[in-house]
Amino acid sequence: MNVDQLVRSSRELLGLELGPDLQRAFSIYADDLLAWNENVNLTAITAPEAVEMRHFLDSLSVLRAVSLTPGLRVIDVGTGAGFPGLPLRLICPSIELTLLEATAKKTAFLEHISKRLKLNNVRVLNARAEEAGQLPEERERFDLVLARAVAQMPVLMEYLLPFCRVGGMCVALKGETAHAEVRQSETALRILGGHLEKIIPIELPQVPETHHLVLVKKVAATPPNYPRRAGMPTKRPL
Ligand code: SAM
Repeated sequence: MNVDQLVRSSRELLGLELGPDLQRAFSIYADDLLAWNENVNLTAITAPEAVEMRHFLDSLSVLRAVSLTPGLRVIDVGTGAGFPGLPLRLICPSIELTLLEATAKKTAFLEHISKRLKLNNVRVLNARAEEAGQLPEERERFDLVLARAVAQMPVLMEYLLPFCRVGGMCVALKGETAHAEVRQSETALRILGGHLEKIIPIELPQVPETHHLVLVKKVAATPPNYPRRAGMPTKRPL
């Protein structure tokens, strides 16, 4: 697949120049995503332009909110086929990226594509957020915690904030409902040690709805009983 549209839009929206190596990497990523998608349910988005805009460019839009400095420890929670974490890793090779995903078939794809694109500093973790968030080696270890299309804000905060170090940042990629979801997450933020920093609207070419980056700063340690056991955050949202 050619990624000309991604090249143009990345330049216009983010001031990013995707050189030949990066273009090749995004092209292989798109081809393998669509090939694997024939057998494993990875994405409902299959039109080439939609993959470029709704997967790749949307993921890269995180760069409007944060700068990815060398060595930054980043985790993408419920990453699916690698969004938004992997496109960001392609652009910023010096971050230390963890891709967390509960479904083994999806982590198999993540292992495959990381190997195919020869990505070092990428760790694939097949686990649920509620379990990994209680592991001492993962808890409050990350500078930046990302998620797209995983859960509504009150639930999502219970998944994300335990991974984030105090002083670090969570960025949730949201659609039109961002402001309403944030209003519902006041209690969750207070309990879990988060503070709403800002909400950045993002307009993507060929995407009619406005996307939003919700930035939540970790201002206090998360109490040890959160995240609750698997399934509880969705059953009884804070
Ligand atoms: N973030 C990707 C994207 O935007 O394309 C995937 C979105 S998909 C709708 C949601 C993903 O989150 C699924 O792959 C699902 O397995 C994963 N997920 C949902 N709840 C999870 C949890 N508690 N822990 C880990 N992964 C979870």
